[in-house]
Amino acid sequence: MHELSLALQIREICERELEKQPESRLTALGVEVGAFSAVEVETLQFCLQIVMSERFDGVRCEVIRQPGTAACSSCGLEFEVTQAPFECPSCGALARGVSGGDSLQVSYIEVESER
Ligand SMILES: [Zn+2]
Repeated sequence: MHELSLALQIREICERELEKQPESRLTALGVEVGAFSAVEVETLQFCLQIVMSERFDGVRCEVIRQPGTAACSSCGLEFEVTQAPFECPSCGALARGVSGGDSLQVSYIEVESER
């Protein structure tokens, strides 16, 4: 499963981050998923919560879907899109293509000092 391997990679990122802060405990994690990445938000959320909980007790995981950006082929307006067709909100023409929105990144981690 694609999402499971992503979740494991995200956990590795967190583990590396936590090694730098040995007195801390991971309490929350946010991941941003682009609207056009081939990732199911619900599935990733599910996998992430499981793999993270194995290592970090009580951690809260949040997966956020980020919209992509499209540029209108007629008037040039840039607007946010989440799914096709990408119609310009200003003139109604179809957009040329989309950019952004195909990435996956850790947007935040929250740690708590154990002292
Ligand atoms: Zn337009």
